Amino acid sequence: MKRELKVDTNKSVLDGIAGAKERLGKDLLLLAHFYQHDDIVRYADFVGDSLQLAEKAAASPDARYIVFCSVSFMAETARILCRPDQEVLHPEPHARCPLANMASIEQVEKAWEALSSLGKKIIPVVYVNSNADLKAFCARHDGMVCTSANVKKIFSHVLSRDASVFFFPDENMGRNVSASLSLSGEEMFLWDPERGLGRTGPGSPDKARVFLWEGFCIVHRVMGAPDVSKVRAEYPGIRVIVHPECTPEVYNQADLSGSTNFIKTTVDKSPEGSKWAIGTEWNFVNRIKRENPGKLIVPLREERCKEMAKVTPEKLLRVLTGLVRAELPGRVAVDEAVAREARIALARMLEIP
Ligand code: SF4
Repeated sequence: MKRELKVDTNKSVLDGIAGAKERLGKDLLLLAHFYQHDDIVRYADFVGDSLQLAEKAAASPDARYIVFCSVSFMAETARILCRPDQEVLHPEPHARCPLANMASIEQVEKAWEALSSLGKKIIPVVYVNSNADLKAFCARHDGMVCTSANVKKIFSHVLSRDASVFFFPDENMGRNVSASLSLSGEEMFLWDPERGLGRTGPGSPDKARVFLWEGFCIVHRVMGAPDVSKVRAEYPGIRVIVHPECTPEVYNQADLSGSTNFIKTTVDKSPEGSKWAIGTEWNFVNRIKRENPGKLIVPLREERCKEMAKVTPEKLLRVLTGLVRAELPGRVAVDEAVAREARIALARMLEIP
């Protein structure tokens, strides 16, 4: 599909990207997350959500260079899954997901020590939006990774093993998926690093089937119930579709929810004349809107991810021209011991039917 050219990137930058891509040919695989800028997406060989991008990176053994336009944990995940002789490059290593940074290995180890004292069977599950050492932690404790596309399946799998889930770092997604599996508020316990297991609230550690972490996505958390009421009042008959990182208030009022790929596919397949309010990152919503001119599409709220936006066409060009000169700017490296364990946690996720 021909993608629309935005006018705010210098033409010489766009020409430079196109020229470098041509010179690198099949050696290069350019991956971009759905939330990336249009002038990056239009040059990507593949665009997708975090699960799709991880699978694409792992299934591309012929690419010598994988340039990953997204936040850093996704480039790190590609590094973990690719062959050692492939190079993964990230145009802006400082583009770091704030949600991923809301849980450190020290904090998680401390929580695990306390949770282990309960004498319950608990399996850790880490959202893919996390640093590699947390994925490695899950591998060491019989746990695994999940994404927004498969989180429900992974929770069901753990619960079916008569184990409780210890999920980090996104509280909202954990609550939303637990509720969709008919767990009550009493069966969820929010881990508080200050008060540990002594926290007061609706859930209790003994009854908990899911232990949650107090992390959130800054983009999705600000979307509120008043935004849903507003679009419904403004556009009668509109359907609201949201990402599960939204708060339970928004999630419960939405008509549908799912990963970015689910959102895109659902809206793309809906009949002409459909009306949608989409609760996720603005760049992505705007693109779906342009690709579906016969439908009414509005953002639930205009929110951009500032970290994703740190990857710019100019920075992409710098990486590509470096590759043409046989340099490796923005090379991603992950400690091999951490990578080995993280790979196990990722493989467990991909193996669950
Ligand atoms: S949209 Fe949210 S979860 Fe995604 S990279 Fe930005 S801050 Fe992180």
